[in-house]
Amino acid sequence: PQQGEEESEYLFKIVIIGDSAVGKSNLLNRFTRNEFTEKTKATIGVDFGTKSIEIDNKIITAQCWDTAGQERFRAVTSGYYRGAVGAMIVYDITSKISFKNVTRWLNELREMAEQDILIMMVGNKSDLEMSREVPTKEAQAFAESNKISFLETSALNSTNVNQSFERLLTDIFHLVS
Ligand code: GDP
Ligand code: MG
Repeated sequence: PQQGEEESEYLFKIVIIGDSAVGKSNLLNRFTRNEFTEKTKATIGVDFGTKSIEIDNKIITAQCWDTAGQERFRAVTSGYYRGAVGAMIVYDITSKISFKNVTRWLNELREMAEQDILIMMVGNKSDLEMSREVPTKEAQAFAESNKISFLETSALNSTNVNQSFERLLTDIFHLVS
């Protein structure tokens, strides 16, 4: 590469999982394209998105996979998890059930993903504070007891979206480098 230009040296596959309608596709679109869509579409258009960021002077490319609807039918296949080094488990802070189901998604990861996959739990829709059903402290305690990272995000107003992907990617980078 020319001086000042750097090539990506690391390609990390990240899977985004969680119940339907928690905001997975919008988190992906916010992170990779800085876009948000109000309407839920059955197929939102992308199965994955890529974005490069810099960590410790290295270019890291995240290839983020989106279930694009299969999660509705519990039909996420082993191929989806193959080669993934990171997972983002998303729930909706206004949906207690989506938080309870994080346990199910953790179990699915244990069954289907690599043993050393790094996990970030994300409580999305933090802009809907008035409708909150999941206290931050409860989610924090859950994350600590399961030894996973945790942040609350809003794909709508961008709060913590880049931060959550960056934290996961940084953790992965430090594990492999
Ligand atoms: P997915 O099924 O998990 O991929 O969820 P989507 O990304 O399709 O989002 C489901 C619905 O929640 C859509 O109507 C989105 O506009 C909405 N949504 C997603 N993220 C947020 C958010 O951070 N805040 C709010 N208020 N709505 C959101
Ligand atoms: Mg989706």
